[in-house]
Amino acid sequence: MKTVKLYDENAYLDKFSATVVSCEKAENGYALILDKTAFFPEEGGQLCDTGLINGAAVNYVKEENGIITHFVEKAFSVGQTVEGFIDFPRRFSFMQNHSGEHIVSGIVFKKYGFNNVGFHLNEQFATVDFDGILTREMLNAVEESANRAVFENREIKAYYPSERELETIDYRSKKEIEGPLRIVDITGVDVCACCAPHVARTGEIGMIKLLDFTKMRGGTRVILKCGRYALLDYQNKYENISDISVLLSADRDSAAQAVHNLWDKFEKTKQTINELTRKLIENTVETKKDTYCFYEKDYNMKQLQMLTDGLHKTHGGTRAALSGGGDSLNFCLCGEEAELESIFAEFKKAFDVRGGGRGGMMQGSVSAKAADVIKFFEERLK
Ligand SMILES: [Zn+2]
Repeated sequence: MKTVKLYDENAYLDKFSATVVSCEKAENGYALILDKTAFFPEEGGQLCDTGLINGAAVNYVKEENGIITHFVEKAFSVGQTVEGFIDFPRRFSFMQNHSGEHIVSGIVFKKYGFNNVGFHLNEQFATVDFDGILTREMLNAVEESANRAVFENREIKAYYPSERELETIDYRSKKEIEGPLRIVDITGVDVCACCAPHVARTGEIGMIKLLDFTKMRGGTRVILKCGRYALLDYQNKYENISDISVLLSADRDSAAQAVHNLWDKFEKTKQTINELTRKLIENTVETKKDTYCFYEKDYNMKQLQMLTDGLHKTHGGTRAALSGGGDSLNFCLCGEEAELESIFAEFKKAFDVRGGGRGGMMQGSVSAKAADVIKFFEERLK
């Protein structure tokens, strides 16, 4: 016997009574089948509802051949009457986002002729895959129209038309659906085959916001947030931008420009530091003829290379330089190729070394204390 889907008739039903048809031990608890349910199963890219049945948590709900199974934490007796409660705030967010997705998909289809070929809805956002390339400009236009449809507070009807009626309806549909087809009609905006609960009027969706989009397999994946998800996103971004604007003493609306300015200053400062470091290295090369292993905590690899290369070319011999701290150092060695190779082989024997090189230069990392490595090179290279 197929389960009566109470959510089909009334998407706002958050509590119901039903009779237990069967209850069997399952992997993590019990598989419970009722004669009717308001729990929407995981289907069509949307997560299932969660909630309670007689106080027992409903962890997962699935549908197979019209029979809906609830996975619950305790056992029930066949014939028993139970009370079900669904987590309605969570479900309502799903309804907002799913109805919002239909509006967006309908508009993309009408404007650009691209089909929705994949939909996923979780507890933070929805993703929609379209079989065509969408740009930011196109998505901005879609977002504008979609929100206009929300402001107009249009009616959303979900129903099962007769086969004859269905022949006269022009609707979007992703794939062949078994059994009677359910139509979700958003007046004047979109008509689509769909099994999920929807809000009754578009005004309930709240804001529809199209966020990131990426190209994939010749199409576009769009991330969207509607209603409460969009509100939480706005709150989070507002907090972030407020933090940035306080740090930079800039208006929220010009925070990005302030970051650009700061970045330019940072780049200039970096150039100055590089130039000073280069001069410092040149000076070190001039004056430190007798030092064979240098340690400079903050030098990058390029600076280590400059230092060892300068010392080797100016004063001869194999030269080593280290940076980093604790037990993790970067190193660079520079010298005549043949000698360098035998020194590097000894170095690898003595320490845990990763790296290599060619043309008279070896570099990499070593897990050791700086003092130990300096001692090794000063003894070996002098
Ligand atoms: Zn749908």
